[in-house]
Amino acid sequence: MCVVPVETGHSVRPMWLKIPVSPACLWSKLSSVSATIPKTMRAVVYRGANDLRVEAVPVPRIGSGEILVQVGVCGVCPTDIKKVQYGTQTPPRIYGHETAGTIVQVGARVRGWSVGDRVGLHHHVPCLDCHCCRHRAFAQCETYKRTGITAGFEPAGGGYAEYVRVMDFCLPGVVKIPAKNSLEEGAMLEPVNTVLKGIRSLSLLKGDTVWVAGAGPIGLLFIGMLSALGMRVVATDLMESRRQLARRWGAWKALDGADVNLVDALRATTRGRGLDAAVVCVPVDAVVAQAQAALRGGGTTLLFAHTLRGKLAPVDLGVICVDEKGVMGSYSSDFTLQKEVARWVFSRRLDVRKLITHRFPLEETAAAVALAARPTEESLKILVESGFARPKAGSAR
Ligand SMILES: [Zn+2]
Ligand SMILES: [Zn+2]
Repeated sequence: MCVVPVETGHSVRPMWLKIPVSPACLWSKLSSVSATIPKTMRAVVYRGANDLRVEAVPVPRIGSGEILVQVGVCGVCPTDIKKVQYGTQTPPRIYGHETAGTIVQVGARVRGWSVGDRVGLHHHVPCLDCHCCRHRAFAQCETYKRTGITAGFEPAGGGYAEYVRVMDFCLPGVVKIPAKNSLEEGAMLEPVNTVLKGIRSLSLLKGDTVWVAGAGPIGLLFIGMLSALGMRVVATDLMESRRQLARRWGAWKALDGADVNLVDALRATTRGRGLDAAVVCVPVDAVVAQAQAALRGGGTTLLFAHTLRGKLAPVDLGVICVDEKGVMGSYSSDFTLQKEVARWVFSRRLDVRKLITHRFPLEETAAAVALAARPTEESLKILVESGFARPKAGSAR
C-alpha cells in the first residue's frame, strides 16, 4: 500500500487516499507527494546569446484545462543549442523541450490524467484541421508553431526548470510512461518521433540502401530505426568511435566521412546503381552535394540538420529535374506517429537508453549545452536532471 495525495487546487494537499500499489511505483507516487507545490522554483533562464542563468522564478499557475508537471529530465536538443548560441530569439525564455516528469496538478476540466502519472511531453501539437494539417504538413500548422509548454516568460518548452505548465492545446501530446520504463525513455519520445517522421517521408522499400551521414544521437536513431525496418544502412562519421557505434546500432557498413573518394565508395555499396536515399544529419553543405552525386535517379536527399535559414549552396537543378533526385527537408515531429513512436521506445525495439551518455544537474545546464554543441568521442545524448529524476540514495524504487 502507499498513499497518494488527492489534488485540491494549486497545492496538492493532504486528503489522503489509500490504494494498493506495488513497490515499483512507490517512487513515482512519492515524488508527487513531495508536492506541496512551492511558490518558486529553480529554472535556467536564457538572458541572451550564450547567457544561461540559474534563477528563482515563480512556479507556473495552471488554468482549468491545463496540467502542471514536475520535470524529471529534459534532453538537450540541437535546436536549443542553436537558439542559445546564436541568440535567435528574444530573451528571457526558458528552453528545453524533450521533457518527461510527473503530473503534480490537474486542472478541473482535464479528463484522463491524474496526479502521479509519469508522462513524456510534446511542446508542439497541430490542430489537425487547417489547410496545412489536411496536407499532413503538421510542422507548418499555425497552432503547431505555438509552443504550448512553459516554465514562464514567452513559452519556449520550459524543460530546464523544475515545473512546467502544459497548456490545453498541448494535452493531446502528453504520453503516459509505462511503469517499467524510465522518465529518461519518456524524454526521448520527441526526438524519436522526428526521426520516424523523416523516414516516413522517404517512401523506402525493404532492402533499400540508405546513407546516414553523421552518427551522433540523431544519426544513430536513424541507423537503428532504418535497419530495424529492413534497410541496408551505410553510415559515415569522422570519428572512428562513432563508426563503431553505428555498426552496433545496425549499420551494414560504416565509412570514414573524410574519405576523398566517399562518393565512389558509397556508390560501390550498391554496385554502382546509386543510393536510394541519403539522410544528412550534419549541417555540412558539401555532404549534400556528395549525397546528390551518390544517389540513383529518383532517389532522395533528406536534410535533417540544416536548421539555419539564409544559407545558400549551389545545386544542380538539372539533376533534380532530369535525374529526379529530390532534395527535401524534415523538421520537428508528426503528432499522428505518437502511438507508434511510444511502441518503438517503450517496447525497447529501439533501446534509447544506450544513447544517453551524460546527465547534468539543472544548475549545470549551460555546461550540458556546451558539451552537446561540441561533442566528444564519449558524448551522445545529454540530459538535464531537475533533481526529481530519481529517488535519493536509500529510498525505494
Ligand atoms: Zn528536440
Ligand atoms: Zn493545423
